[in-house]
Amino acid sequence: MNGEIIVETRDLTKIYGDGAEVRALDGVNIKVAQGEFVAVMGPSGSGKSTLLNMLGALDRPTSGQVLIRGQDLAKVRDLDAFRARTVGFVFQLHNLLPTLTARENVEVPMMGQPLSRSQRRRRAEELLSLVGMAGRANHLPNQLSGGERQRVAIARALANRPAIILADEPTGNLDSQSGVEIMALMRTLNRELGTTLIVVTHDHTVAHQTDRILMMRDGRIVHEHTVGTPLEEDLATFRRSGLGQAILAGDTVSLAGLSASEVAVLRRALERGGCPKFVGPGRFVGQLLAVVLQLWDTPGARGGLTPRWVCARM
Ligand code: ADP
Ligand code: MG
Repeated sequence: MNGEIIVETRDLTKIYGDGAEVRALDGVNIKVAQGEFVAVMGPSGSGKSTLLNMLGALDRPTSGQVLIRGQDLAKVRDLDAFRARTVGFVFQLHNLLPTLTARENVEVPMMGQPLSRSQRRRRAEELLSLVGMAGRANHLPNQLSGGERQRVAIARALANRPAIILADEPTGNLDSQSGVEIMALMRTLNRELGTTLIVVTHDHTVAHQTDRILMMRDGRIVHEHTVGTPLEEDLATFRRSGLGQAILAGDTVSLAGLSASEVAVLRRALERGGCPKFVGPGRFVGQLLAVVLQLWDTPGARGGLTPRWVCARM
């Protein structure tokens, strides 16, 4: 992340309908830095899709502004050209054209570009290989699994090297394993290509694979959460757990099978919240926590949780 703000909204408002008005967006102010990976969460009807549509210039706001690299979208003359160059979309349903192969689907957005047929074809093949679909280039969408189709949809979204990818519940129709894989792919693209990603999701696991979570309700951003390092996230989870609460209360030495000094270390880590001072011992504590938590959720395992057992598994 280089800190440059690539997406910004100012008092973004969208009202649908004439009679019974729906305030789908009600004064949304967000800033997303170049290279950031942001999740948008919130209940159904809270305005997530409307926000994404505004960011991608698929629809116009009632009032307020969307700025992309500081440029107000209301002042962009050719929105089609803007979209083609700057944003790629991935939807919950992949929207692939059923009569075209995976490769041809990826080529579609390149039709408006000054590329020869063979250049288009080569780029489509490169993109399919980037998303792990090189071996499926000639398959039709109905010959692919849901996760594979979503990979093709991501390759298609990348066709014109967009700076921003907007994804609306891209894992919504997938089983949880495929969902995790699609998110891992997006993380790789985010890191390797530097693409800024804004992903709407219902799934907390998915959201925690990003850098930052924006929580929406009734057309507003009601909460923002920066996803911490794995250690910080482990500590936060641990602090909320029954065992974490008990350690903080000072009464679980025997339950956890840990020595008093180990419990003291854990307790200090929990109290401090996984600060940088813990880089050395903190890593140890983080791993210890992961093992302890795992065991805590395994019926019958608690009694055997000795420090030696834990250390042997780190
Ligand atoms: P989410 O994606 O968070 O489920 P949406 O952005 O789709 O929510 O919708 C926000 C609100 O705006 C909802 O109350 C929805 O019914 C309404 N809405 C969305 N699109 C339209 C539309 N085209 N016409 C009228 N109302 C709409
Ligand atoms: Mg939606």
